[in-house]
Amino acid sequence: MNSLTLKAPAKVNYRLDVLRRRPDGYHDLRMIMQRIDLCDEITITVTGSPGIRVTCGREGVPDGPGNIAWRAADALLGLAGKAVGLDIAIAKNIPVAAGLGGGSSDGAAVLMGVNELLGLGFSDERLMEIGVKLGADVPFFIFKKTALAEGVGEVLTALDGVPTVWLAVVNPNVHVSTAWVYQNLQLTSGRSEVKIPRFYGSVAELCAVLANDLESVTIPRYPVISEIKEGLLDGGARGALMSGSGPTVFGVFDDELSARRAAEAMAGRGWFAVAVRTL
Ligand code: ATP
Repeated sequence: MNSLTLKAPAKVNYRLDVLRRRPDGYHDLRMIMQRIDLCDEITITVTGSPGIRVTCGREGVPDGPGNIAWRAADALLGLAGKAVGLDIAIAKNIPVAAGLGGGSSDGAAVLMGVNELLGLGFSDERLMEIGVKLGADVPFFIFKKTALAEGVGEVLTALDGVPTVWLAVVNPNVHVSTAWVYQNLQLTSGRSEVKIPRFYGSVAELCAVLANDLESVTIPRYPVISEIKEGLLDGGARGALMSGSGPTVFGVFDDELSARRAAEAMAGRGWFAVAVRTL
């Protein structure tokens, strides 16, 4: 076998509490993270000529060492002491700089794919340790379960019983820098005091937990996010929230048909919009 194709799913945050700013400049977070069936497709091929080549062809995503997929392959080959050639082709379906974790998921897929393709034998735990240095969300995509994520996002606890739901995912085609959002965050929500449940038996219980501290920074700069949230709620969503640092918004629906109808209505207003199932 000298080639492997993998799906790299996006994520949404059902919850994002910023607990405190740390002395090293990062923030301690408490998040509920959920993978969704909106995926990049990554093909990794072992070649005769040494070096790593990444091609993506999407505006705003670098092809070379600037790509997290390149850095993931480089880190793993370095640790394994292998000097093989790798071609990595990314078919990008996940909106970029959108709060959907697309770059981190590509990085995680490359760590898992190269490990398998070359038979390197790294455990998932070891891949997660390597991955957190590439991006805070990378370990979550290697974990592969709905999770409570603490620390900078690397301390993961599986959440059982979270219902599979249909979402309408809407992105207004603006790029938001995660660094800019954290630089402009005022820590005032006081949500760190609030306990969040470990078990979610129904869609209503899930919707009751939806909250994102970063909306307080991103929405004033991009009011279109509020417009999308209202549009989704008017369209029958049980809850609607910005994901990550934004600007993507998701609405939680009771069934596939209502999610598809809402996504079509949003696409009709000129935004990127898809109906997807949670994974
Ligand atoms: P998060 O929710 O983790 O903050 P995001 O969805 O907001 O992530 P990404 O799409 O992961 O943001 O990309 C952020 C930046 O990383 C982009 O501006 C892009 O230039 C860079 N980048 C590097 N590699 C990739 C990749 N494989 N896919 C997407 N972006 C990448």
